[in-house]
Amino acid sequence: MNTADLAPFHQPGTPGYLDACHSFQLAVPVDPAGAFVARSVTDVVRATDVARRTGLPLRVSTTGHGMGATAPVTGALLVNPQMDDAVRIDPEARTARVPAGARWADVIAAAVPHGLTAVHGSSGTVGVVGFLLGGGISFYGRRFGVAANRLRSITIVLADGEVTTASAHENPDLFWALRGGGGGFGVVVEVEIALVPMRRIVTGMTVWDAAEAHRLAPAWQRWSVTAPPEVTTSLRLLSVPPLPTVPPQLAGRHILAIDGAVSAVGDADVPAAERILSDLMTPLTGLAEPIMNTWTTAGPEALPLTHMDPAEPIPFHSDTALLEPLDADGWSSLLNAAGVGSSTSLLSVEFRQLGGAFAEPPADGGVFSHTPAAFLYWACGLPGEQTGKELAGVRDALLPYRTGFTAPTFADHVDQPRRTYDETTRARVERIRATVDPGGLFAGGVEPIRD
Ligand SMILES: Cc1cc2nc3c(=O)[nH]c(=O)nc-3n(C[C@H](O)[C@H](O)[C@H](O)COP(=O)(O)OP(=O)(O)OC[C@H]3O[C@@H](n4cnc5c(N)ncnc54)[C@H](O)[C@@H]3O)c2cc1C
Repeated sequence: MNTADLAPFHQPGTPGYLDACHSFQLAVPVDPAGAFVARSVTDVVRATDVARRTGLPLRVSTTGHGMGATAPVTGALLVNPQMDDAVRIDPEARTARVPAGARWADVIAAAVPHGLTAVHGSSGTVGVVGFLLGGGISFYGRRFGVAANRLRSITIVLADGEVTTASAHENPDLFWALRGGGGGFGVVVEVEIALVPMRRIVTGMTVWDAAEAHRLAPAWQRWSVTAPPEVTTSLRLLSVPPLPTVPPQLAGRHILAIDGAVSAVGDADVPAAERILSDLMTPLTGLAEPIMNTWTTAGPEALPLTHMDPAEPIPFHSDTALLEPLDADGWSSLLNAAGVGSSTSLLSVEFRQLGGAFAEPPADGGVFSHTPAAFLYWACGLPGEQTGKELAGVRDALLPYRTGFTAPTFADHVDQPRRTYDETTRARVERIRATVDPGGLFAGGVEPIRD
């Protein structure tokens, strides 16, 4: 094929190509036949034109946080939408219009001066569109539910180059399928989301030695399943690298960290939020002395820093599942499999607290709008045989507690078991996908279902 046929896609090795292929997930090769950063809707329409004309599949990526979740982009054309527009807040309507390419940090920075924030994830560098298309699990989630429930409209370029809007009133079937349906519908260029009023939060992390996990994890779970919806937390076992950039009391240690947020909305709600935190922490700190405690009252801009997600690209191999509560035997097997008291190559073994609004079906939700699961499990390590073996060991330990389903945003390894929905829902999603992309231009970007 003549290289001019692929313009505006850049060829491998050129600066434009490398720019478009930038990815957070370094374990997955990003080697499409051509790649470019789209700055406008017109650019995205041109991308679909070239893909149709050349017969090459078209793939979409912005930050590459989820690059491992779908089949490799090898041989496809890759469009990276980084719209030139800014995030626009409507303080009266409490909404934000967010261009594709924006990260959560961009939305938070624009919303907070208005006393508002978004229902976002633990990291400010994750892309808004990719997160929302997968539902989105937030530290505000037990109060406000799955983040995608706050989508008001989605502007998308379809395979035939048509620019269309999906909302509760326009193309409602597509709107439903886009929210958790597993991708492959087109290139989203803008979304409108409802924001939430939020001036104060209580956020932070308490850390213990991982050896305390046998007492602390079951106690955290007991609190978790009856906790009020204002609070959402995570319990993690973390292997902290011996780096000068980490606090010296943590460097090189296997630790247990509980972090998250209690939403307070206004100053008057802060004492109640602090009581909620105290109800969690007083019994736990009575069981074992923490080695670090950073909880504080802050503005909502503090939340993307709480979980200490890496900001720079890394290679990782992960696994996930939605879980029922564990019994005493379950915690014991899990903690042994996760290397407590021995050694582990797993960097993180995490349980995110669900329940509250996560479990409530909204009136007009998309494919993934709620889950009855008690916890979301996610673990990761550097790619390699040992990590694979240990992830499999943890998976075995959790087998009796699995719901059989996964949350789309956390299933970020293409070969792992994952299932967001049942077969009836799958048939409906596929009918809608076939309507908007009959030629399968975006088929390579569909998230697989594997039991
Ligand atoms: C450090 C870290 C922290 C995370 N924290 C959370 C968390 O707290 N909660 C949570 O729910 N998830 C979390 N995730 C998972 C994250 O939400 C998913 O990986 C998400 O898919 C990332 O979206 P992205 O656009 O940044 O990534 P990308 O890899 O660029 O995109 C992922 C997928 O989204 C689709 N997509 C992206 N942009 C577009 C577009 N414009 N049009 C059409 N499709 C598009 C594509 O199918 C693409 O394959 C985290 C991931 C990491 C690595």
